[in-house]
Amino acid sequence: MTLRSKSAVVTGSTSGIGLGIARALAREGTNVLINGFGEPQDIEKERAGLEAEFGVKALYSPADMTKPDQIADMIRGAEEAFGGVDILVNNAGIQFVSPVEEFPIEKWDQIIAINLSSAFHTTRAAVPGMKARKWGRIINTASAHSLVASPFKAAYVAAKHGIAGLTKTVALELATHGVTVNCISPGYVWTPLVEKQIPDTMSARGLTREQVINDVLLEAQPTKQFVTVEQVGALAAFLCSEAASQITGTNLSIDGGWTAE
Ligand code: NAD
Repeated sequence: MTLRSKSAVVTGSTSGIGLGIARALAREGTNVLINGFGEPQDIEKERAGLEAEFGVKALYSPADMTKPDQIADMIRGAEEAFGGVDILVNNAGIQFVSPVEEFPIEKWDQIIAINLSSAFHTTRAAVPGMKARKWGRIINTASAHSLVASPFKAAYVAAKHGIAGLTKTVALELATHGVTVNCISPGYVWTPLVEKQIPDTMSARGLTREQVINDVLLEAQPTKQFVTVEQVGALAAFLCSEAASQITGTNLSIDGGWTAE
């Protein structure tokens, strides 16, 4: 499998799953634009590392996924620099854990903007080029929470169910244009996003750190293991291959059996 001569934009890829996907695509020879927040020197290290390790062109955009104009500029910039965006991975996401009646309104708005609306803004900007070239791959990082719910995650679960619906709709619209649109739904992957929600889950449920890891997080996963970012990256790279050209409109679980229960 090679994706040489293709170019990708991966939102929220300075860390965690997005970085894992960016690295998996670069390994296949794809130019990548990474995006997200972090320390400038750490981001530059990742960007330069992608070029040095895989011999591809790697760019960085600091576009804030809550800002539609910055998102449009990011896609336009990638199209100019790479000559097109063939692969779009909507991955940026944040979490907030709170009972619904105490859920801060600004957190609800922020999660819907980053985890759901940003994918609409990137997609509408990237689709014309994909249609013109008659080839494209759109992959949305959803979650097991696009299929099932957990308490105290109202905004996250709503956004993830929403992105699963957006995926199906856009897949149908692009079905005859050589563009596939799918979502990947991981269970718990050990990343900063999961680590950061442990203290809030400890207080929301009155548990210790070990209890949250074993009785809340891994409790959901029959395999009792975290998914790795490399495994999610490999699935994304497969979805970009020609072998996956008839896979569209699906929601692919990679969750250690969580949603089988
Ligand atoms: P992470 O915190 O490691 O990475 C999130 C990335 O998004 C970072 O690069 C961050 O800088 C970026 N980001 C945050 N706000 C942004 C904004 N406003 N604009 C641009 N970038 C922004 O988290 P992760 O665990 O790798 O999560 C990535 C995606 O995977 C999210 O959509 C998350 O919901 C989903 N997911 C994660 C898990 C898990 O267990 N970790 C499970 C299922 C789904």
